[in-house]
Amino acid sequence: MTREAELLLKWYRENGRVLPWRVTGGAHPDAYAVWVSEIMLQQTTVQTVCGYFEKWMKRFPDMASLAGASLDDVLLQWQGLGYYTRAKKMHACAQTVMAEYGGSFPAERAELLKLPGIGPYTASSICAFAFNLPETVVDGNVIRVLARYYGIREVVDREKITPLAVRLTPQEAGADYASAIMDLGATICKPAAPQCGLCPWQNNCTARKKGIQEQIPLLKKLEKKKKHGAVFILLNEQNELFIRKRPGKGLLSGLWELPWDEEGRFPFEGNWQELPAKIRHVFTHFDLELRFFKGTLPLPPDFSEQGLFVSDNDLKNYAFSTLMKKVLEKKAEIL
Ligand code: SF4
Repeated sequence: MTREAELLLKWYRENGRVLPWRVTGGAHPDAYAVWVSEIMLQQTTVQTVCGYFEKWMKRFPDMASLAGASLDDVLLQWQGLGYYTRAKKMHACAQTVMAEYGGSFPAERAELLKLPGIGPYTASSICAFAFNLPETVVDGNVIRVLARYYGIREVVDREKITPLAVRLTPQEAGADYASAIMDLGATICKPAAPQCGLCPWQNNCTARKKGIQEQIPLLKKLEKKKKHGAVFILLNEQNELFIRKRPGKGLLSGLWELPWDEEGRFPFEGNWQELPAKIRHVFTHFDLELRFFKGTLPLPPDFSEQGLFVSDNDLKNYAFSTLMKKVLEKKAEIL
């Protein structure tokens, strides 16, 4: 074991975070719980995931309960976490694990990679956390810590950092080591103002020696498109709201929505009145601004067949994206 791994493991055993999906000192007994947490943590903060994870584990405590649930129910439980493809793939993955692996995850990375929604990062995480294998897990925290430790001043990404991370990963204590290096990044070697005086690697850290911690890492910048769209509020005489289900494929597929268009095109010819409201939402590949319009009834027959009218009380029974939750909040403010 490298000196770095020894120091880090010692630090972790005294300072590691207590998280609902984590055990220390070895493999997690429930690979299902590890997987649920790892999928939720993609694109979502630890703080947000804590609440969702506990609710999810009550509703779907094991692989069989998730596999047997309807996709609508799964999406409803996922509501608010965003990136809904994750939930759909989890549902498909649970069904595959039940059908082909007797309800338990295989303990080999190559087998895990065959499952829906499990990419290299998640496969490594399951191997490390659930099976205590010496798998190298490289997330944003690990990239930052190692870029600083080795004083890398050029643009870094997972590909560049992985060989360095592999070199440090010990052959034993795979689960604790993977948790430890993530915790070091999340709690000490933070993006701003790293607390080097508390860091177990402070004596050999290149960035610290040179005083360049905050200039590292340099990350690739994503150029994002801006889109100006519109959302359309249609109410019937009972003040019920028109909603419809998105198609099974593509952005926010399978979720419910108020009619909206990312380019602001009206859904049908009609009498549209613009309302004094706008919201903004950030997608992975574009930033969206939505204007609000209210339309008068009746709906054209082909349009009314696409959805249904729902009372405010019943809206909670439908899975909406985070974007639509923002729309509903704004609608409640203005109408
Ligand atoms: S010494 Fe500072 S910059 Fe270096 S790894 Fe530790 S916290 Fe990060």
